[in-house]
Amino acid sequence: MMGDTNFRETIKSAIDSIGQELKVEIDPDDFKTINLVEVVRCLRRSYYDRIDSKEIEIKGFNELLSGLLRKLGYGTEPKEFQIDDIKLKGQADMIVDDVVIIFRPNQTIPEAPQAEDLLFLNACLWIYDKFDGIIIYITSDRKEYTFSLTRNKKMFEEVIRRVRVLSDLLNQKKVPILEPSQNCLECQYYQRCFISKKNSKQKSLSEILGLSKEN
Ligand code: SF4
Repeated sequence: MMGDTNFRETIKSAIDSIGQELKVEIDPDDFKTINLVEVVRCLRRSYYDRIDSKEIEIKGFNELLSGLLRKLGYGTEPKEFQIDDIKLKGQADMIVDDVVIIFRPNQTIPEAPQAEDLLFLNACLWIYDKFDGIIIYITSDRKEYTFSLTRNKKMFEEVIRRVRVLSDLLNQKKVPILEPSQNCLECQYYQRCFISKKNSKQKSLSEILGLSKEN
């Protein structure tokens, strides 16, 4: 079992070393290799990132945390999981004493882990053939909160389904359906999805999330 002192020292050293930017490398033309980051979030966004991408502004140093940790010698090597003729590529931030760890920046300490973070961590457990994982949320004032997870087959099957769907839609050049969520508000494709070119009518968040009471 991982020692608490070592674990905290590892995190502190890693955070102190952060100083450069990193991006997950994805070959936009290789539709038979899907990166895990593409399928745990909105598939439409991932599709646009490959086919007709628009840069997104990184708002703060905190957002670089996960990628930087992977790059600074604390990280794991990327690994592939074969799904028929498609490769699912994933990379955990760290593996310490057989425990897979991912770091996520957050404005505040969350009440529960984000669904996409759970999907990501669980898929990493299958890709690296490990059983236990941890998500560590870190706020900009360096508070941290930890959630643990034991791997779950059903959750991974959902990721596999999404890998197949994204690969098929990329091959067929078909834009995936909308997946409305709170993430839409900071998505660089918001206008394409929710603002009609004809009348420039913008939808409210409640409409986007299907909560509108209007008839
Ligand atoms: S605005 Fe929402 S539905 Fe559209 S691509 Fe972005 S996350 Fe997906």
